[in-house]
Amino acid sequence: MKLKRRGFLGGFNRFRLMLTLGLAVVLPAAALIYVNFRELRAFKYNKVLEATIHRDFQEMLAITEKKINKKAYAMTEDARELFPSSDTDASDKEKKLDLILAKSPWLTHVFLFDEKSFVLRTQPQQMGDKYIREEHERMAESYHVWFSSEGKMMVEGMHKKPRPINFYTGQTKRSDGDAYFTTALFVLPQLSSDRVVVGGITFDTCYLQQTFFPEMLEESVTQRVTEQGGNPLAMMVYPTEMDMGHEAKPLAATAGWSEGKPEVSRKLDDVFRGLTLGIKFQGTSVEALGQTWVHRSFFILGFLSLMIIGGLVLTKHIVSKEMALARLKSDFVSNVSHELRTPLALIRLYAETLELGRITTQEKKQQYYRIIRKESERLTALINNILDFSRIEAGRKEYEFRNTDIAELVRNTLESYRYQIEQQGFAFEESIDSNLPAVPVDREAIARALVNLVNNALKYSSDDKFLGVKLYRENSVVKLEVADHGIGIARRDLSKIFEKFYRAGDPLVHNTKGSGLGLSLVRHITHAHGGEIAVESTPGKGSKFTLSLPLTSAVQQPAMS
Ligand code: ADP
Repeated sequence: MKLKRRGFLGGFNRFRLMLTLGLAVVLPAAALIYVNFRELRAFKYNKVLEATIHRDFQEMLAITEKKINKKAYAMTEDARELFPSSDTDASDKEKKLDLILAKSPWLTHVFLFDEKSFVLRTQPQQMGDKYIREEHERMAESYHVWFSSEGKMMVEGMHKKPRPINFYTGQTKRSDGDAYFTTALFVLPQLSSDRVVVGGITFDTCYLQQTFFPEMLEESVTQRVTEQGGNPLAMMVYPTEMDMGHEAKPLAATAGWSEGKPEVSRKLDDVFRGLTLGIKFQGTSVEALGQTWVHRSFFILGFLSLMIIGGLVLTKHIVSKEMALARLKSDFVSNVSHELRTPLALIRLYAETLELGRITTQEKKQQYYRIIRKESERLTALINNILDFSRIEAGRKEYEFRNTDIAELVRNTLESYRYQIEQQGFAFEESIDSNLPAVPVDREAIARALVNLVNNALKYSSDDKFLGVKLYRENSVVKLEVADHGIGIARRDLSKIFEKFYRAGDPLVHNTKGSGLGLSLVRHITHAHGGEIAVESTPGKGSKFTLSLPLTSAVQQPAMS
């Protein structure tokens, strides 16, 4: 009788499950992955991050400018304090100005203008320099004229400021090329506002370039890094006009500047007008940082996507497995019902026939009795299998191990089948080694395993009817072999036939009654005895099941899979 394995309902359920899995899980996951990848690609680099860093840089530059100005003002004020009164005579002024120069090596020129005279002093050791000497001469000439004409206005303007100091900046020449200078002009502290007296100092260009700026910038950068950590920063200051297009050449820079464009820049005002401050990360740029971020995000997203995909594949696998098991279970119910119905129908039929008293010959009667006995034996075997199986499933199956003459056990079990085997036209070959030591086994369980194997050999044979049973010792194990020349088992089924409910897909198998429980019981029994079950089979040629039992049984109670 052919049994339908996969009904319409089974197929429909599977379809519905796949549809649910597809719509509810795979689609959203795929959409999520797709949207994330697209967004990341469109990002190029993180704009928000970039804006935050730039704002932070702007702030740092503003603070640095303030500090630089403060220091320059303080230095100028210190010098201003030392300025002579304009009312002393010329040689006295010179002396006092020279004293200021001696005390402040960071100055190149100091000068004092009043209504009567203009005194200009320059660092004596710098006067050897041709450029400085020329500068001195130029200043001596032009400043006098300048202050004479504009001094009054200048002084009035300065008196209105909270700090009466003006800074003038510009380029000048030095032996090693262009240099940047700043000159501070101020009114003297003790004088009233109607006196046109102007004092002034010019910062040494070398001092600015080699000491003042490097120290100020380094201080800013180190302070920031020790306060907040993170990527090390670099700062520099450069003449503003160089900003146009080509890469700015620093006037002074911190150690880590190396080269490259500033990330953010700020034009200086007041004291150092004409210079620009620049800042960047050491050895990297915000863009590169952003790119690293994007790459890392891509990597993480890729990894998570793989995990999602892996999870989905795993889920599908588990669900398919569960569904296959559910299908096997439903097959099992219908298989068992058929297996129960057929022998019951036969028993009823033959018993009724006998009851009617129509059978006259003794021989015929004997034949009917035998059929009834055989069918009821089959029923018992099936029910025993089911009961054993349910005990195992519930974890209640217990084995009773006793030292047993296993040769005698096998011989006895086969004996009760001999008639049936030969009746069905099987060539029966038996090879039992009688000199085996006693083995600790559960008699009933081992007999049931053997009966299941023999029954399978009988069930799954077609034309070449052969049954071979061998019992022998190999080292420390006893081996029980059951071989047939039957239909064999396809390679893909070999690993599954020991699973509960599993029956091979072969139509020949499905025309044969069975519950799919036999071999799973055999395996459970063997494992409980600390043994192994193995199968070799060639489709169309036959199969050989080998049950190995250790001589000293390592008894255990495995769970059924
Ligand atoms: P059942 O015989 O009740 O179907 P079993 O657990 O005993 O269940 O066997 C599982 C499956 O293994 C069978 O359905 C059959 O496909 C295959 N099988 C078992 N023994 C043999 C054999 N001797 N020859 C060929 N196939 C076999």
